[in-house]
Amino acid sequence: MKEQNIKIDLATTKKQKPAADQLVFGKQFTDHMFVADYTEGKGWHDKRIVPYEPITLDPSAMIFHYGQTVFEGLKAYMGQDGSIRLFRPEKNMERLNKSSNRLSMPKVDEALALEALKKLITIDKDWIPNAEGTSLYIRPFMISTESNLSVSPSKKYRFMIILSPVGAYYKEGINPVKILVENEYIRAVAGGTGTAKTAGNYAASLKAQEEADQKGFSQVLWLDGVEKKFVEEVGSMNIFFKINGEIVTPALNGSILEGVTRNSIIQVLKHWGMRVKERKISMKEVQEAHHNGQLEEAFGTGTAAVISPIGELNWEGEEMVVNEGKTGEISKKLYETLTGIQLGKLEDPFDWVV
Ligand code: PMP
Repeated sequence: MKEQNIKIDLATTKKQKPAADQLVFGKQFTDHMFVADYTEGKGWHDKRIVPYEPITLDPSAMIFHYGQTVFEGLKAYMGQDGSIRLFRPEKNMERLNKSSNRLSMPKVDEALALEALKKLITIDKDWIPNAEGTSLYIRPFMISTESNLSVSPSKKYRFMIILSPVGAYYKEGINPVKILVENEYIRAVAGGTGTAKTAGNYAASLKAQEEADQKGFSQVLWLDGVEKKFVEEVGSMNIFFKINGEIVTPALNGSILEGVTRNSIIQVLKHWGMRVKERKISMKEVQEAHHNGQLEEAFGTGTAAVISPIGELNWEGEEMVVNEGKTGEISKKLYETLTGIQLGKLEDPFDWVV
């Protein structure tokens, strides 16, 4: 997938760009998209940047029936210096391939997928909003396109990258949320697809989210699928706690998605000389820490919010208010550090920004 092999067909008419205060997550898309097709025996071919438009697939295309699909989510930021920054995009391409492998889908060439992404962003750079907190959300994804109703890996795929300008996640400042610990539904089990970014995981999570919503919670905290005792993730974010001065996060156990933000936060905390442990964390331990006054902070981490402080955890009817429902010191400092690096306002000692 050489960059010069990407055919470019520019849009003749450009869409109207939304105003900064009209940005809605995932609803508006830029003028162009990247597309490549894969055929077994031939590999990736017909790499192209074309005007953003609907695609046509046969009703028997395998994606509609057996759900062989993977995706990624990352952002491009427009700095005050006019530079466009990506945050560790190679980690997303690496994870895309790990997900593809789990779903018996072909690999993409990570370096060249990144080149295609850079080219696409350069073409649509006027779409990157520059108001405080805004960014360009990037959605690379792959679908199975062979027309075939037999249950087997598809012999044809399409890889695409689409771009969507997004508004600030926190319009009124970073805000702690209420979380329901989910006791009925589960997200994933080891050996399943929890470590892959694939549609089925998200489809399976909607029911729990819907019910939590109705009860007035903003997300669910997922427990392990076997004993329903151990903490896994929160909504579509990884989770961290500060218990008695120590930062802990569930160890990657085969059912948790390895977040790029999670990985970055562990490195930042270590860089600060803080103790951070990846290990099993039971809900009982969290509850006991709360009772003893040692549950100092809890927060989710992910590309969308960066840090989402947890103000309250509800487990089997018990309301556990964390840090008086306020944003904790570590949450605030991590948020400022990561967003500072992403926007080029702070030094990047890790060489994360591209
Ligand atoms: N867990 C799940 C299930 C997710 O969908 C995401 C979002 N990609 C995350 C964790 C956080 O990952 P990242 O930090 O790479 O956005």
